[in-house]
Amino acid sequence: MRIVRTVASLREALGTDPKAAGTDPEAVGTDPTGTRGLVPTMGAFHAGHLALFEAARAENDLVVASLFVNPAQFGAHDDLSRYPRDEDRDAAIAEQAGVDVVFVPTADEMYPPGFQTWVDVEELSRVLEGAARPGHFRGVATVCLKLFSIVRPHRAYFGQKDAQQVAVVRRLVRDLELGIEIRAVATVRDPDGLALSSRNEYLSPDERERALALPQALATRDPERARELLAGLDVDYVELADFDPPVLAAAVRVGSTRLIDNVPLEGDDQ
Ligand code: AMP
Repeated sequence: MRIVRTVASLREALGTDPKAAGTDPEAVGTDPTGTRGLVPTMGAFHAGHLALFEAARAENDLVVASLFVNPAQFGAHDDLSRYPRDEDRDAAIAEQAGVDVVFVPTADEMYPPGFQTWVDVEELSRVLEGAARPGHFRGVATVCLKLFSIVRPHRAYFGQKDAQQVAVVRRLVRDLELGIEIRAVATVRDPDGLALSSRNEYLSPDERERALALPQALATRDPERARELLAGLDVDYVELADFDPPVLAAAVRVGSTRLIDNVPLEGDDQ
């Protein structure tokens, strides 16, 4: 597995540099018939990330994972500075999962001085998570487009856990004719039902116990009943969302930790 930190070295490794395509004998992605799968992440890997790596590994010749805590998708009051980071651990997990190339850029590498081009998926970015976190999806869409442009993947993998993110990225790909297949991978949960999330690390044992109301409420697949079951928590929203598939989605705060989750209302995806 290769770890690369700059856009230039990633392009070189993949053979996606338009100026130098195919000229680097060390490049791992220069097979013109080979397919590339991209898994964008912020690190702190858990079994949810592993499910994405596994899906990408099964369908592509080359798997690229990005590990980048994207400042542009965090608001002023979000948890950017305390977001868990452990590159060595993540690299070992990615290698074990069969990832071929890990891209670990700095914020300056992705947003160099003078950076001023942003992608805004307008309506989809204003509701639910977007209403609670203004600018979040602008950051997500921009970093995804930039990663797509650098990696030129055939397929990109996202978790159904972040259903609105999947909807925003699919809209981006459609609207800008990017020609990338977006795969949504079913939410991976702990045995007690809590969706795996890097943010679960912030929960105290008591908070974790209280957080179980979130998957329990969503499992009713009924917004009214879900709201009742969440009455003891600080609820941001509980809403039906007309994504593909439609979902019942919710966001709650447990202590200082904000958790989101959803259940698809069609198909057998959990
Ligand atoms: P993150 O590192 O939190 O940005 O997540 C990277 C990708 O993993 C995103 O596409 C998430 O939707 C996905 N993901 C996070 N948690 C889970 C989970 N519990 N099950 C499946 N996918 C997940």
